[in-house]
Amino acid sequence: MNAKIILLPGDGIGPEIVKQAHRVLKQVAEKFGHHFDYESCPIGGCAIDEFGDPLPPQTLEACRNADAILLGAVGGPKWDDPTAKTRPEKGLLAIRKELGLFANLRPINPHPDLLDASPLKRDRLEGTDILFVRELTGGIYFGESGRKPHESGEEAYNMMTYNTGEVERVIRLAAKAAQGRRGKLTSVDKANVLEVSRLWRQTAERIIQEEFPDLEYEVVLVDAMAMHLISRPADFDVVVTGNMFGDILTDEASMLPGSLGLLASASLGTDGPGLYEPIHGSAPDIAGQGIANPLATILSTAMLLRHSLKLEEEAIAIENAVDAVIKAGHRTKDIAAGGDFVSTTEMSDLVLAQLG
Ligand code: NAD
Repeated sequence: MNAKIILLPGDGIGPEIVKQAHRVLKQVAEKFGHHFDYESCPIGGCAIDEFGDPLPPQTLEACRNADAILLGAVGGPKWDDPTAKTRPEKGLLAIRKELGLFANLRPINPHPDLLDASPLKRDRLEGTDILFVRELTGGIYFGESGRKPHESGEEAYNMMTYNTGEVERVIRLAAKAAQGRRGKLTSVDKANVLEVSRLWRQTAERIIQEEFPDLEYEVVLVDAMAMHLISRPADFDVVVTGNMFGDILTDEASMLPGSLGLLASASLGTDGPGLYEPIHGSAPDIAGQGIANPLATILSTAMLLRHSLKLEEEAIAIENAVDAVIKAGHRTKDIAAGGDFVSTTEMSDLVLAQLG
């Protein structure tokens, strides 16, 4: 297969981890006889420094013409000034919107050998294997917002909206994912209070009844879901929800495996390239030290191969290699629990050695 892959290293540890994931992609291509072309483009803080824009037009254009995109992370204290004209995170929101990446997939499957790294008890976690599907380009984060005068000072507002089509497409995507897994779908909303959630629930139920009657389907209120995630995470298979609820719940869920350094994600649209990235940020506190965990980004390349290039065998090869390295007891600092640890490059060398 020939494919064009855009690398967006970004800021902080982004360039360190994307460099290692790139090595993995190159080795997979060689092993399985594919030809991947790569182009590295600026995004985030480094793009603000160079072009005054967190998503320069040439980066967006390159992404539009690619088969898939691998992102590191953006942001850092250098660009945190609240009065600044623009911020690194604006580049992320813009690329998602511009490429129509309406669904964010985050697998949460704590590794059996790392269960003790989690703040949750081992017996709660065992068997946990959740795929979160978060709607990514609608809802309150993209609604009208502003401020107006108020007798006490000011009033601020953010508008939450979803239309039928936006709900239908993300429910379909999540339902198809559930069909390929254990056949269970949980839709999370706040239909007891929000009109937006009532449309969400009504639409989701119709799509499931008409198109996916084989699925085991349930609805859970978002406040209850926050509790269930901690008390019985192993009961869930695919969980689908809106943008803000998904933002909060997926961060809560990211604590289940114990480290941010292991969690990959995919952002997908109807067609066009998907965007793959670790769920963690740019970790400015450890940038440049060579100790960042590259596994979340390496696992993101497995998602890239699976979802954008349909190379399932290659994706599994990467996942198995990561699994074997963890089983063999190798740890980066974030998951070493105070014990011996390997560097970013050494961890990647171990994965490459397993890949063969
Ligand atoms: P963070 O995820 O960068 O870091 C949180 C903690 O986890 C830090 O102690 C960090 O050292 C550690 N950590 C994160 N990734 C790690 C890895 N791969 N290996 C080892 N340890 C790791 O979150 P933060 O500190 O809240 O944010 C830092 C910057 O990143 C901010 O500017 C924020 O806006 C940005 N951010 C970007 C994204 C993104 O690009 N998608 C996501 C979240 C935060």
